[in-house]
Amino acid sequence: MYHQWTRRRSKLASDSLCSRAFVMICWLLTWYSLRKANRFFRTEQYERSVRYYIRATGDYDNVDMVVAKAGRMPSRSLALRLLVAVERIGRATVQNALGADCFEETGTRHGEFWGALAGRPYLRTLGMIVRLAFEVDDINKAIESSLEILRLDNWDHLGQRHILPSLLIRAGRYEDALSFCQVWMDPQFDGQARPRGGCVFSPPSSEPLSPAFIEWHSEFHMHTSQMLNGALATYRLWGDCELGRQYLMLGAQGNPGLMAKILAQIPRPDAPYRRARVQNGREDAHDYRWRAQDLWMASDVWTWASRNQDVRDAVLKTCYNEGCTSREAAPLEFKHCRCDKAFYCGKECQKAHWKTHKSECKGDHPPVESSSPEHDVDSEDSTEEPDSDSEHSASEDRIIW
Ligand SMILES: [Zn+2]
Ligand SMILES: [Zn+2]
Repeated sequence: MYHQWTRRRSKLASDSLCSRAFVMICWLLTWYSLRKANRFFRTEQYERSVRYYIRATGDYDNVDMVVAKAGRMPSRSLALRLLVAVERIGRATVQNALGADCFEETGTRHGEFWGALAGRPYLRTLGMIVRLAFEVDDINKAIESSLEILRLDNWDHLGQRHILPSLLIRAGRYEDALSFCQVWMDPQFDGQARPRGGCVFSPPSSEPLSPAFIEWHSEFHMHTSQMLNGALATYRLWGDCELGRQYLMLGAQGNPGLMAKILAQIPRPDAPYRRARVQNGREDAHDYRWRAQDLWMASDVWTWASRNQDVRDAVLKTCYNEGCTSREAAPLEFKHCRCDKAFYCGKECQKAHWKTHKSECKGDHPPVESSSPEHDVDSEDSTEEPDSDSEHSASEDRIIW
């Protein structure tokens, strides 16, 4: 009902005093609804807050706030119910702003919703629906919303290319997952929007990768999450084949710390990373494990990846102390200095190397000789801090999950 008022609001805005009064009443009603909803939210009466949040989205400017509130509701199914209603209202508002045919393939803004201001809150609503549906294990709903985002925003400003493949794999749609990853990894599309956001889903290629492709990706590591999901889908389709091994190698080299945590069977994080992030940084690696770690824990996949020599070469570390040739026998065996830059086989080596390491060991932590010189990597997942996935890569901007 409220969104109809909003629709009328724009039609009437330029007219008489009477219509201005009508607009003001609508605005007051949405303002009142939002206030009431927030009060229920603050007092943890989430169920009661929902109907007022739905009314508050009659003012389209409130949509982003409602999406954020839904993201913080303890009951994910309640939050999902709220956003499904918000999405319906938003759809009508977007049609009002961008044209009745904007959701059709023939619509003028089709595929470019991000470029229209009215399109963004709508896309963000769908983005939160993807997350909530995943959390309540409604994988088909998550896939449907993710596909819709990519269809409306072919450039994928919301990063669905990192999310959709693992959802498709979860649903047993291995060919679609691999097709999607292959489109996003294809250098010919570099810097361009993918047709339908990569969701045309043609039969995937089983041909091994060319040396030029491997060289291009080894240099930039722009698509590590697609490499890893591509490896998973390839393995499910064709078992241990050369293409799967190549994806696995590029994924492990793209983010050795992420692969080390997967192989060390560090427990999956129970929530995505919430605070600010460096794009494609260690926080995204945390999110990758939140979405897909269990897919890697299937015993056949885990064994396949653990025994792969390229993966072992990328993941297993050598002691940083000069002259010590000790090498990890298993991922994350060595402890690291608090700066996350140096790894040692034991305390003796860490102490011996301190003179050299001191100058590059930055941070406000006490020096290595203090009472707790070592930092146990395994304890990281119990905090909300990001994973140390990027700990020993050459530069921060190469760390892509
Ligand atoms: Zn050593
Ligand atoms: Zn250090």
